[in-house]
Amino acid sequence: MAMKIQFLGGAEEVGRMAMLYENGVSMLFDYGFAPTKPPQFPQKVPDNVKIKDVFLTHAHLDHSGMLPWLSARHRPRIMATEPTIAVSDILLHDCLNVWAYEGNPQPYGEEEIEETMRSFVPIRYGMHIFVDDKEIIPHPAGHIPGSAMYEIRDGDTTVLFTGDINTIATRLMKPTHPISADVLIIESTYAGREHMSRDRIEYEFLSKVEEVVDRGGKVIVPAFAVGRTQEMMLLLHNRGYEIWLDGMGKTVNKIYFRYPEYIKNLKALKKAKKDVRVVHSPKGREKALRFADVILTTSGMLDGGPVLWYIDKIKDDKKNAILLTGYQVEGTNGRMLLNEGKLEIYGAVERVKCEVGFFDFSAHAGHSQLLDFIKGCKPEVVVLCHGDNREALAAELDDMNVYVPKNCETVMLDI
Ligand SMILES: [Zn+2]
Ligand SMILES: [Zn+2]
Repeated sequence: MAMKIQFLGGAEEVGRMAMLYENGVSMLFDYGFAPTKPPQFPQKVPDNVKIKDVFLTHAHLDHSGMLPWLSARHRPRIMATEPTIAVSDILLHDCLNVWAYEGNPQPYGEEEIEETMRSFVPIRYGMHIFVDDKEIIPHPAGHIPGSAMYEIRDGDTTVLFTGDINTIATRLMKPTHPISADVLIIESTYAGREHMSRDRIEYEFLSKVEEVVDRGGKVIVPAFAVGRTQEMMLLLHNRGYEIWLDGMGKTVNKIYFRYPEYIKNLKALKKAKKDVRVVHSPKGREKALRFADVILTTSGMLDGGPVLWYIDKIKDDKKNAILLTGYQVEGTNGRMLLNEGKLEIYGAVERVKCEVGFFDFSAHAGHSQLLDFIKGCKPEVVVLCHGDNREALAAELDDMNVYVPKNCETVMLDI
């Protein structure tokens, strides 16, 4: 039998992940869009293919964002962990609001999202899911709470599809570990790039916060609602600062408290949550601005969310600082701030006079960590995806059979 692996998106790029796996049955792994302006969508599933089973690795929109479009047409069952299902619900609805605000054409609406929500089948790590004669087993991926890698036992061959992975422990997450596989399909976001050690990043971030607060300034920490907000709460806890939390991270907190087995330390997160003051109203926002040392809020790339309201108020005073906590994608407001010191606030591009810092709190494995993970899986075949510099990894894997397919190209393997 020949196994066919085809990326409908997300092969040579970070974003719109969609992998079609065919070997007697057709299964889809992730179906996301790239949140660029305008958004980029994956290819449609070929007309002659009917998708009955989808495996979702995690809730990020570049993996989940086009599921409503697919649900309405193929009506598949969609396997995902409980936190992934709950967070997808929030992110998919939020994405409709963002599209409406930005005036983008909308490939689906409320009704299709509801169809997707009804199609989810909750799964747990380690359980065995059967699709005809294939056995699929989810494993923790270390990326965000609920993120999964999928092991596919297909005859005598074991395939591992990683989705997004992190191999170091963070304050929120336990690391993932390699799993033996004959065929490894792995993300390559940081191919060719290393992260500074997590201890060092934390030290530099905390030193900067201290410096700003000591000089009488306020720190705005824009953070993704999913994972990064909680990581920052854990890091800033117990250091004597008055911390206020605003934005979608508040809702995501509630989900993580509901599914504590998916985070490293529930007690620590509960304590950290107690330590922050939560903004519930416009009045609360005014209070946060007056009393906070640190304001933790969304969105992480400054494209909308309460963060712009706060930045608008503090940006002209050099004592203050905006400390970015994640990668800023090309074309986002956050990238413009880093590159040009300007920001679009409520339709007008304005200069930002306060200090701006960037700290690489990534939830992805860096170059050497990816290499170690690959070697640990001992694969014969490696298929690299989810990266724009995959060659940097391929060059170091010359003792393995490595594929770097483009979108829509088919990798055929005889197994
Ligand atoms: Zn992700
Ligand atoms: Zn991703």
